[in-house]
Order: sequence, then C-alpha cells, then structure tokens
Amino acid sequence: MPKIGGMSNQERKTELYKLGEFRLIDRLTGSFGKLHETTIMGVGDDAAVVDVGSKYMVITTDLLLEGIHFDLTYFPLKHLGYKAVVVNLSDVYAMNATPTQITVSIGVSKRFGVEDLEELYAGVKMACERYGVDMVGGDTSSSMTGLTISITALGEVSKTDITYRRGAKANDLICVTGNLGAAYMGLQLLEREKRVFESSPGAKPKLEGNSYILERMLKPEVRKDTLQKLRDNKIKPTAMIDISDGLSSDLLHICKNSGVGCKIYADKIPIDSQTAQMAEEFGIEPLVAALNGGEDYELLFTIPLEEFQNVSKIDGIATIGHITAESSGANLISPAGDEIRLTAQGWNALAKE
Ligand SMILES: [Mg+2]
Repeated sequence: MPKIGGMSNQERKTELYKLGEFRLIDRLTGSFGKLHETTIMGVGDDAAVVDVGSKYMVITTDLLLEGIHFDLTYFPLKHLGYKAVVVNLSDVYAMNATPTQITVSIGVSKRFGVEDLEELYAGVKMACERYGVDMVGGDTSSSMTGLTISITALGEVSKTDITYRRGAKANDLICVTGNLGAAYMGLQLLEREKRVFESSPGAKPKLEGNSYILERMLKPEVRKDTLQKLRDNKIKPTAMIDISDGLSSDLLHICKNSGVGCKIYADKIPIDSQTAQMAEEFGIEPLVAALNGGEDYELLFTIPLEEFQNVSKIDGIATIGHITAESSGANLISPAGDEIRLTAQGWNALAKE
C-alpha cells in the first residue's frame, strides 16, 4: 500500500488537533491566489463572494458526518435533512444575502434503505419550501461506513448590502438574534437519555417539557424575518456572522477580522428559561452554555451606535455590548462588574478525544 503523501512514518506527521480547525484551514488554503476579478471574497468569511454582474453571488458548503456531527439513535432522518439545509442557509443569511439554490450530495452505507433516504429528502424538501430555495443537483455514492451529507448553498445580495465579518468599528453595538445555548442543552439532554437507554434498554426517555431546547437542536431555524425587519428599518449591519461554534468563538472572529476589541455584558445575553433550567439540572452555568455551546444558528452582528433607538424597536434582537479598540481586547463583563477575557472554547471539529 502506498504511504499517504510519501511520508515514511507516522512520527513525521503533525496531528490535526495540534493546529485546530481554523489554523488548519489557514495552512491549507493560505497559498491560493486569485486569478479572476470576479472572485471578491475567498476563504475567511461565512461564504465566498463572486461578482455576477449587477449583484454578488455567495457560495457556502458544509459537510456533515454520522458519528461526528449527528447521532442517528436520536436524530430523525427527516429532521437531519432539514437541519443540513438550514445550517448552510444560515451562512448565506450571515452575508446579508438571500438563499436561492442548494445542491445535496450524500454517501450512504448498506445500512440505509430507499425509505430512509426518502425520509432524509423529505426534510430537505421541507427546508427548501420554508426558505424558498431550489434543490438543483448533487451526487450520490455508496460509503463504507455510515451517512455523509454535503450541501452547497448559493444566494444573492446587492453589492451595497453585502456584509462581511470585517466591517465592525469601535463604538458599534453588538447585537444577537433570538437566544443562545438552547441547542447545546438540547444535545446534553438527548445524550443523557441515550446513555440511560443504553444502560437499561426499555427505559423510556424523559424528554417531556423540553420541546423547545430539543427543537433548537434537532430542527433549528434561521431568523430570516429579523433580517428582513433590519432591512425594513434601513439598518445595515457593519459586520455579521452566524453563531455555529458559540457566541465567544464567533464574536472573536468578528473582532479578529475587523481588527477591533469588544465588551459584552453577561446579564444582557439572551437565554431562554428552558435552557437555564436544563443547564442547572446538569450543573452547568447557563452563561457558559450560551457563550460556548454553539449550534445556535442565531445571527451575531454589529450596527452603528446611532441605530440604537431603531434596533431597540425590533423584537427578537438583543443588544449585548459594544465594539472597542483592538488594544482593549475581547471582554465579558460579569453581573458583579468583573472583566473576564473572552476565549474561543467553542466546539472544535478536530479536538482530540
Ligand atoms: Mg458561519
């Protein structure tokens, strides 16, 4: 068998977890140049941006692997199909764009029957209808193990509305849609009930009264209505990202790309009561779930300070702090007034077990 990359032994390889996902991406993609004037933004934002004449097209892709990103013991296939589409559309909306088309590619092992894949695609279709996108292609292949789903989403946006991660300026307000930490607590609950079921088969899962956090994990939505309200009120975000890895990690992306610092206030971070209750049950600080949980698919954005009155009128948006000079760093202010340095403890796809 040929050795991968001509390496003679395992010792010469750098293990992936040592770099982490973002440094790995930098290392692999950093040397690629740009041949086409139409390439406006490459790697480094929620989606790539291509000039298609009067508008910009945004392109984003996501890979979901069984056992890494989802567990089919509690993830219904229809929900999975739905979520796989939504997580991609979330990145399109994060560019202030409107999604238009998707392609769907899957790898499936022999474990799956035609009816299973029909379930998966029923979820894909439901998301297409809900968000008004066309499914225009993809690829299907057999796989040695489990299920793999890769979706690419396209969207369009006017050249003046495009919003990157890099536009935040000192004194801008930091806003977030909806609430945070719910999907993470939903996941903790599902994992706990799975362990109970595995240790005593026949045990009934205790999921009642937690439909909100379960839905946030299994069937997330993007706040496209809130984005529309921003547009209706003529508020253009200066920077935007979707929260997939956790508030801390994603806010740090905005800070790094914009060359700024930030100050957010713990008591302003929106947390649903069901999230807080489940966090307490698990002995987790609700704030920690909100900061580091991830998979919220809420939108995090910055707006000019003078829009404060305007944005306060819109339901479903919380102002959680403001942008500062880069030299002040990224900080969280506790209810007692203490300053805590924000760190990216979000989910890391390459973390060592
Ligand atoms: Mg994103």
